[in-house]
Amino acid sequence: MGATIIDGKAFAGKVREKVAGHVSRLKEEHGITPGLAVVLVGEDPASQVYVRSKGKMTVEVGMTSIEHKLDVDTAEADLLALIDQLNKDPEIHGILVQLPLPKHLNEDLVINAIDPAKDVDGFHISNVGLLGTGQKSMVPCTPLGCLMMLRDHHGSLSGMDAVVIGRSNIVGKPMAQLLLGDSCTVTIAHSRTKDLADVVRRADIVVAAVGRPEMVPGDWIKEGATVIDVGINRIERDGKTKLVGDVAFESCAARAGAITPVPGGVGPMTIACLLANTVTACCRANGLAEPEGLTA
Ligand code: NDP
Repeated sequence: MGATIIDGKAFAGKVREKVAGHVSRLKEEHGITPGLAVVLVGEDPASQVYVRSKGKMTVEVGMTSIEHKLDVDTAEADLLALIDQLNKDPEIHGILVQLPLPKHLNEDLVINAIDPAKDVDGFHISNVGLLGTGQKSMVPCTPLGCLMMLRDHHGSLSGMDAVVIGRSNIVGKPMAQLLLGDSCTVTIAHSRTKDLADVVRRADIVVAAVGRPEMVPGDWIKEGATVIDVGINRIERDGKTKLVGDVAFESCAARAGAITPVPGGVGPMTIACLLANTVTACCRANGLAEPEGLTA
């Protein structure tokens, strides 16, 4: 195995340290404490775990964490009223509505009710448009984390051939926009892509965001390419439950120049970038300089 392992866990620790430093300066110099509100509707076990760990890390970096836990049958009007209240609250700089929402709630309507300046997930249509036109926006956390790791590893990404596998609104599409913004030549692949192996073999950078365990084998990877594995898949192997990514780690690592592991790669960066987005939103709301290196 020749690839450098990109340690997302360690990198995320550094991002959180940087956020914490900026939070303490905001408190000392301006008397401002960034605040993040997380709204959870229902009792989806995975969502509960995510919300708990987001809350814990928010507090660890010195920010205020507010959690709103609503019943699974909450009416849309009540959820929208809560978002309106959070939009108007000057102590709250970031609002995150944990997805997926129960079926009776319209996700697009709910997300677009969040003040775009507080939309730390970067899913509001205004932020999507700003990112797509290369303007300052709130950038979705998972692709932002991938970009930070790529920049850290390569310095400039200019001119590199990048293939993003997956075209979801939360990962694939914003990832492609960010790589384009860094002057990569970007291909977006999806379930209808013809000869995916051939497409991936041309890439200097492969970002896999599919949700299919180990679907990218090593012989699709160009020698020396950088592989960013976004996938989180729970599988049974040898009688045990195991987390694996969308790429076959061992065989891809044998050909890649660098690769992110699962777990310990993209996952930890996602929460670190949520905290980074919250501090960025707080600085923007108060007309203060943004921390450097914490956004796209
Ligand atoms: P979605 O299900 O929304 O999107 C999956 C994408 O993969 C779709 O665009 C789909 O194509 C494409 N796809 C499916 N099958 C194939 C195939 N055989 N060949 C090529 N493309 C295919 O998933 P998400 O983007 O939300 O998430 C992707 C993965 O990333 C999941 O494992 C998820 O758990 C993980 N994830 C991890 C995060 C982290 O923090 N590390 C955060 C968010 C997600 P089509 O559009 O044609 O259907």
